[in-house]
Amino acid sequence: MKIRLLMPSVEPKSRLQFTVSVLIDEHIAIDTGGLPYLGDIDSQRAVDHVLLTHSHIDHIGGLPLFLDNIYAPTPECPTVYTGEATWNCLESHLFNDKVWPDLERIAGDEFPFYRKQILDPHRPITIADYRVTPIPLEHIVPTLGYVFETETGGALFAWDTAPFLEFEKIVQSIPNLKIIFLDASFPNQMQWLAEKSLHTTPGQFQRQIEHIAPDVRIVAVHLKPGFHDQVCEELKALGLSNVEVACRETVYEI
Ligand SMILES: [Zn+2]
Ligand SMILES: [Zn+2]
Repeated sequence: MKIRLLMPSVEPKSRLQFTVSVLIDEHIAIDTGGLPYLGDIDSQRAVDHVLLTHSHIDHIGGLPLFLDNIYAPTPECPTVYTGEATWNCLESHLFNDKVWPDLERIAGDEFPFYRKQILDPHRPITIADYRVTPIPLEHIVPTLGYVFETETGGALFAWDTAPFLEFEKIVQSIPNLKIIFLDASFPNQMQWLAEKSLHTTPGQFQRQIEHIAPDVRIVAVHLKPGFHDQVCEELKALGLSNVEVACRETVYEI
């Protein structure tokens, strides 16, 4: 399993996480902030599974552009997966013929832009070689994290969330857990905003992971760009060798 970050920036060396989305094995994306800016059209056409966490614009904003980039009048199209609440939001507020065309209506069944799949929390599905389980997170709209399991190990993707009670239970339930991508949005001094927006500070991050085995790699994501350096310093000050800040150049392999 090869995971890399899709971070939209015109400056290739930028470490700022203007949005968070990841690409798995070149053909599965979680969230879409960076997806329409990936490589070339062939690289984008290779992405045939797109999982969305929730309806906020930094996560869904790339979806209409991506679908438009890769469209061809063939029966082939990507499958888009998310929870029912997010689908309702996409259909009412995004693909509504105002913000973006209603792609289902204009393409019809023959040459669709995408296939829709509704996910239920805790009900696993199979995507390629992976068992993928959506898990409910703690955010201001219904939000899903994802557990990917395969023979070589497990990965947990959990951003746009406050610390959540089920975290420990979920982590314990993943056999051979290798890597966690976890929200660290605001610096500690902005705890008030993290609480209002249901995100996580480095202090909360530390408490959330305190029982995680030290051989599990923990990658901090969703650092707000305006506070990136401060959050990095606060995470570094935790002194935990298995914690790192997400980097666009790294390929996370398990
Ligand atoms: Zn977000
Ligand atoms: Zn959000």
